[in-house]
Amino acid sequence: MSQFFEYKDTIKEGDLVLAWLSRDNLKPITVKAGEVFNTRYGAFSHSDMIGKPFGSQIAIRTKGSNRFGFIHVLQPTPELWSISLPHRTQIVYTPDSSYIMQRMECNPRSRVIEAGTGSGSFSHAFARSAGHLFSYEFHEVRYEQAKQEFKEHGLLEAGNTTITHRDVCKDGFEIKNGDTTSHEFRGPEETKVELNADCIFLDLPAPWDAIPNLTSVISKEKKVNLCCFSPCIEQVDKTLEALEEEGWQDVQTVEIQGRQYEARRQMVRRLDDAIERLRDVKRRKHEGVEKRQKNVEQTSNNGSSVEATESDKDLKHTEKTHFNPFGKGSRVKEGDSNFEWTQVSKVELEIKSHTSFLTFASKIIDRTRDEEQTKAYLATFKD
Ligand code: SAM
Repeated sequence: MSQFFEYKDTIKEGDLVLAWLSRDNLKPITVKAGEVFNTRYGAFSHSDMIGKPFGSQIAIRTKGSNRFGFIHVLQPTPELWSISLPHRTQIVYTPDSSYIMQRMECNPRSRVIEAGTGSGSFSHAFARSAGHLFSYEFHEVRYEQAKQEFKEHGLLEAGNTTITHRDVCKDGFEIKNGDTTSHEFRGPEETKVELNADCIFLDLPAPWDAIPNLTSVISKEKKVNLCCFSPCIEQVDKTLEALEEEGWQDVQTVEIQGRQYEARRQMVRRLDDAIERLRDVKRRKHEGVEKRQKNVEQTSNNGSSVEATESDKDLKHTEKTHFNPFGKGSRVKEGDSNFEWTQVSKVELEIKSHTSFLTFASKIIDRTRDEEQTKAYLATFKD
């Protein structure tokens, strides 16, 4: 079983481990006794990882100092893989992939078509959730690299992922015996793979050229959901035209704009308190003027600089403030129980996750109700 599909407790030789160095620095390691993982914090021996629970912190003393360098060794998941994988192309990140999967109702019964495979970021998320993933890549080197990676990660062995070397715009999606694919044909009697796809994800420069080729490989019985991932609005326009021509419905284009919300508390400031505060400032100003006048008078009477200094001290001893409802002039910790607070949230204006426009559509080919199939389907929910 793939490490991406089920959790393991302890790290064994040969396991894939994601070494967490910092929030934006996560490195994949295949654990081999005797090997070393070199970082700027020091060299971590793979042997120290073997037998440790996933999630452990591994610490080493930094050479020539009393300080420690440490990493966390994490269980691989599609989400963590997306932020640690070796980039061969632009990739789809979790804020987009999670939204796309739920919009396409991707579930363990789904048969998914993905083109192109690229760096395999989205493929891992699909492979974990779907019944079967058919991924296509026309770049030969990328196809080979992705196939190797899927094999190492147990995606092919799990039997639910097929990767095919193909230009889907020119040659469509059908997988026939003799094609360059990870599918192992049982023999000459198996001539082609039945795709019956009901989730389609196209991350291609020209999805409109691939859309007409879907007709022969999508499910005739189920509702088919599609999503095209395009960075430019001109691409969206051409895609919409192709979808309309091919009879796709419920077409909608959305854009994901991720924002960071920071929850915090803000001090409650009342009008009465503000007025009282102004009165206090006025009162203190008045007292200050009076004291300074007294001081000037005393200095001019006896001309002694010593007495002036005494009087200065007197001024310094004046109480800083009589009334300050807002904690001004002193450090007030957020949530200090001497003040009243309200919950607010601050939005970080920078848009974090817009990478592309997402165009969704769906198609139902056969709208006749098959009573037998409905009965059989409902029966699966009984136990
Ligand atoms: N979704 C992928 C991920 O999350 O890692 C990234 C896909 S990448 C942006 C697009 C990929 O589509 C490239 O690897 C490219 O070689 C492939 N591609 C482009 N046109 C294609 C076509 N007509 N048929 C198959 N693959 C194609």
